[in-house]
Amino acid sequence: MDLNHSYRAFVLAVAQNPRIEALVRSRARRLARRFVAGDTLEEALAAVEALEREGVHAILDLLGEMVRTEAEARRFQQELIRLVQALAARPYPRYLSLKLTQLGLDLGEELALELLEGVVREAERAGCFVRIDMEDSPRVEATLRIYRRLREAGHEGLGVVLQSYLKRSERDLEALVPLGTPVRIVKGAYREPPAVAFQDKRLVDAQFLLLAKKALEKGLPTAIATHDPRIIEEMKRWTAERGIERERFEFQMLYGVRPAEQKRLAQEGYTVRAYVPYGTDWYPYFSRRIAERPENLLFVARSLLPG
Ligand SMILES: Cc1cc2nc3c(=O)[nH]c(=O)nc-3n(C[C@H](O)[C@H](O)[C@H](O)COP(=O)(O)OP(=O)(O)OC[C@H]3O[C@@H](n4cnc5c(N)ncnc54)[C@H](O)[C@@H]3O)c2cc1C
Repeated sequence: MDLNHSYRAFVLAVAQNPRIEALVRSRARRLARRFVAGDTLEEALAAVEALEREGVHAILDLLGEMVRTEAEARRFQQELIRLVQALAARPYPRYLSLKLTQLGLDLGEELALELLEGVVREAERAGCFVRIDMEDSPRVEATLRIYRRLREAGHEGLGVVLQSYLKRSERDLEALVPLGTPVRIVKGAYREPPAVAFQDKRLVDAQFLLLAKKALEKGLPTAIATHDPRIIEEMKRWTAERGIERERFEFQMLYGVRPAEQKRLAQEGYTVRAYVPYGTDWYPYFSRRIAERPENLLFVARSLLPG
């Protein structure tokens, strides 16, 4: 187990403490704004316009996950439909990411499937791509199953995420190849046990490159979602060496993380998308960002001190 992994596991465990959550929610809201475009859809769309001016496209993400009631899941579905309709009226590329636990996955697979299909239908009308984010390992199987069921029902404009820390991801990738599935490769943001996930950062990094290259070799539309300069450089080098056209892949990063690099890659002629979260349910997302980077914890600690 490396230090990096232990730090992340520690922060994610602490973040689940309700007293810590209450404290961070009340004191670190301003800090969270570094990673979150705003509370409202209107604020998010303003952030998207600023990105577009830099040549960077956006992936809209309505914050919210692990809902506990059907009514809440249905409210999120309505809000996602409102998002798609707002995007339909805009001239730039339309793209959203969502989480299945936001649409009631923990209450039942059929509910999540039904609600997602409603969003996908609206997205098809609007020419909007839908990315199903990948959550923690107990939910991977159901997430991939729901994706397959939507494909079988004839829905095309959607894709999934594969996490390079999961030992199963290479097999999952192989299984997605016959469907021509658009994949996003990420390292993975959750606390996972050694039985299912690599704990050594070097292995996770190596596995990221392996998955991204394999996806491209198999002809899948591939999103390379990382801020890691070494991985980005290697993928630039490798795709150029192989003559892989730039239309077949893109770089994706998070809003507020390495914005100058996002702009630079776009200026070099790569497609770049920034993942733009918005909404009031920012705490779990923010915790994962803090868990990724020890430097960020310091800022949180400072904001918690009585001022
Ligand atoms: C578009 C997008 C979508 C995602 N979707 C999912 C998902 O569906 N499921 C999921 O589990 N995870 C998702 N993630 C999160 C992902 O799994 C990682 O947790 C996250 O991207 C951090 O890992 P990293 O690849 O940037 O590399 P890290 O190993 O965290 O960082 C590598 C290097 O990148 C640079 N870097 C990283 N962060 C910063 C920073 N804040 N400022 C400056 N430099 C930095 C540093 O040089 C660092 O050494 C997504 C990430 C992105 C970008």
